[in-house]
Amino acid sequence: MAFKVLITPRSFETVKDKCIGLLEKENFEVVMNPYGRVLTEEELAGLIEEMDGIIVGIDPVTSKVLEKAKRLKVISKYGVGVDNIDLEKAKEKGILVTNTPGANSNAVAELTLGLIFTVLRKINLSDRKTREGSWERFVGYELSGKTLGIIGTGNIGRRLVKLLKGFDLRILCYDKDLDLEWAAEEGIIYVSLEELLKNSDVISIHMPLTKETYHFISDKELSFVKPGAVIINTSRGGIIDEMALYNALKEGKLLGAGLDVFEKEPPIDSPLLNLENVVMTSHIGAHTQEATENMAKMAVENLISVLKGEKPKFLVE
Ligand code: NAD
Repeated sequence: MAFKVLITPRSFETVKDKCIGLLEKENFEVVMNPYGRVLTEEELAGLIEEMDGIIVGIDPVTSKVLEKAKRLKVISKYGVGVDNIDLEKAKEKGILVTNTPGANSNAVAELTLGLIFTVLRKINLSDRKTREGSWERFVGYELSGKTLGIIGTGNIGRRLVKLLKGFDLRILCYDKDLDLEWAAEEGIIYVSLEELLKNSDVISIHMPLTKETYHFISDKELSFVKPGAVIINTSRGGIIDEMALYNALKEGKLLGAGLDVFEKEPPIDSPLLNLENVVMTSHIGAHTQEATENMAKMAVENLISVLKGEKPKFLVE
């Protein structure tokens, strides 16, 4: 019997022609997301029963969903963060989880740069005012010569360090695992979280959302932050306590924030929507043509490996 696989990420459609051949070659029956958007728990639960493998984006692969899976052998994450997948339940059911590390690092690092400059130079406000017929000359800040703090020096944090060469920055990093060899090569230094928060003009977050990192940046951490600093978050919304961030921005403690991710997406009820010093994007960090192709190819290869009984290249353990 042919394996049946479900593919949910909408952007997969745009690169389908480049990857679908690999699945067809294996004679897999492919079911594309019939809803054209991120699936709800109920929708995914309704589709998963028959599937041998799934390629998922940020759809909720919860315990309730996995309970319905009868034949599932692999959850192939199209991306890096696996916070939408109940890893314990998957393990309990013997379902392997894979992901695509590095596939979207450059895309997210470049968006991070875009958010930094948009906040520092108020590009969003200037664009809006110009369209409205006003000719306000906003005074911004330069990045060169400043101190940048990177929280999380994995694939994205490291790509950001590479892209920032040439800005004469002092770069401070914080991570739970220190790679001192890399730090020496790049001329960056690891410091404590408190030291990073107290000394950075721009702080950028690049770590996964886990039990340990939920509300990692809250009132206490924001009280350490240098007045006039900028916070950029392209990782996961839950890492920042949004009410604490809102208060720090409203009180003028922070110059601004650039956010690609939110605790609740879309952030329709968020008070952050009312602040002009917040630049918001719609979780587009990985959404470039290049990253989409990388993620799709790697996710398909991981899925095929597991279904063929081989060791996948990128197993989440
Ligand atoms: P990665 O796994 O390569 O790096 C994560 C880093 O965070 C690692 O160095 C790890 O040691 C560190 N870390 C983990 N837990 C920590 C903790 N408790 N304290 C300190 N450091 C900790 O991941 P990556 O590819 O760099 O991606 C980072 C995150 O960015 C992903 O987990 C994902 O949630 C997010 N992301 C967002 C988008 C987007 O569209 N905006 C796209 C890709 C990834």
